Amino acid sequence: MLPGPLPERVDVAKLFARNGRIAAHLPISQLARLAVYLADSAGEAQVSLQFALDAEGRRLLTGTVVAELHLACQRCLRSLVWPVSSELNLLVFSTRDELDKLLRLQGLDSMEHDVLVLDEIDAPEPALMTSAEQELNVQTLIEDELILCLPMVPMHEDADCSLAWNSLRSQVEAADKQIQPQPSPFAMLAQLKGTKTK
Ligand SMILES: [Zn+2]
Repeated sequence: MLPGPLPERVDVAKLFARNGRIAAHLPISQLARLAVYLADSAGEAQVSLQFALDAEGRRLLTGTVVAELHLACQRCLRSLVWPVSSELNLLVFSTRDELDKLLRLQGLDSMEHDVLVLDEIDAPEPALMTSAEQELNVQTLIEDELILCLPMVPMHEDADCSLAWNSLRSQVEAADKQIQPQPSPFAMLAQLKGTKTK
């Protein structure tokens, strides 16, 4: 069966209870916050999520997000395809108390995985958590992940860029190297003068 569209929200409790899997696609055009960074919103993200308990009985959400984002090269301003392949690895807790309790129990300061605390998602992303306690807005989760994968400054590789300053510069440098440094004629003159006056 071909993967269907990613639902906006999923029932986390149900999915963990039955080791649920989601394989779905998410049109990039649906992601308004991500769109700000894009040259265009073509394409889809392929999303795969797995809800399972880890060896210690903790709720672990794992998965992958694969997409090709269309950015604008900051050098030549033309379109640049930015491939994203990101792995999710999130321990899911209903409340901060639940997380703190487990940390105390294990004598740890923080978890080895990233942590998702369901009742805290109102800040900074109010849309991530819905009023029903165990529902998660997976589209927002995936959108956040894609935003985290964006480069600081999108730029083509030199060979692909129509304004490849670096390749231009390296050509100039190569040409410079071919010209052997010649002593300045004035320096030679000064030397001659110096020898004559001695
Ligand atoms: Zn470019």
